[in-house]
Amino acid sequence: MFSTKIERSTETDDMTDSYRHQGLRRQLVNGLKQKGIEDPRVLEAIDKVPRHLFMDSSFLEFAYQDKAFPIASGQTISQPYTVAFQTELLKVEKGMKVLEIGTGSGYQACVLYEMGARVFTVERQINLYKKVKSFFNKYGYKIKVFHGDGYRGLPSFAPFDRIIITAAVPEIPGALKTQLKTGGILVAPVGGQGYQTMMRLVKHSETDFEEEHHGGFVFVPMLPGTAAD
Ligand code: SAH
Repeated sequence: MFSTKIERSTETDDMTDSYRHQGLRRQLVNGLKQKGIEDPRVLEAIDKVPRHLFMDSSFLEFAYQDKAFPIASGQTISQPYTVAFQTELLKVEKGMKVLEIGTGSGYQACVLYEMGARVFTVERQINLYKKVKSFFNKYGYKIKVFHGDGYRGLPSFAPFDRIIITAAVPEIPGALKTQLKTGGILVAPVGGQGYQTMMRLVKHSETDFEEEHHGGFVFVPMLPGTAAD
């Protein structure tokens, strides 16, 4: 899709997707493979999304390092490895309805979009919500973004085939378990501040959830309610 919306360029203008950026992205993808990401569809999606466009200009040169970075409103854009890891666990198929909690920069949502998902994403901070909404419009990402409290999910758009939480939760919110389809998968970092376990839930019925643990990660906390700044 970037062939239509984002100019490919050999120049070093940071707001285009130059050959330099594409080359750095290819290296990032190779690094992710070496770190154990195997699903070719996940790697292809990472290869398609110009991560430098999501970052404040002073950080552009770091866009393709495998690191988390600060974005607006005191939040972070997740580390590419973490995005790839969560996406791989989610087992997204084309056309699936996917709910993301914690839009942040919008990067994870775009990776899901490039995998062919119908993406719905919720952000509690109004500034991030507005920024991402115009970003999606500008670059042609057809992703539905909402300002709201992720603990409530999006009942009017439920059920979802997949749900991904990208902020740390002390436990999986009940509303999100309800909004997951039977047979659906939910991936979330669960735990206290400073360290969480990546959990994958598979919903077998309204009361029967299979639970897997997939190693330690560090996310910013999911906070209750919405914020006006
Ligand atoms: N997925 C993002 C990174 C998320 S960082 C990316 O790809 O860049 C976590 C995000 O969750 C932050 O933007 C934070 O504001 C948001 N958040 C925290 N609590 C929330 C809540 N209750 N509902 C929705 N979003 C929340």
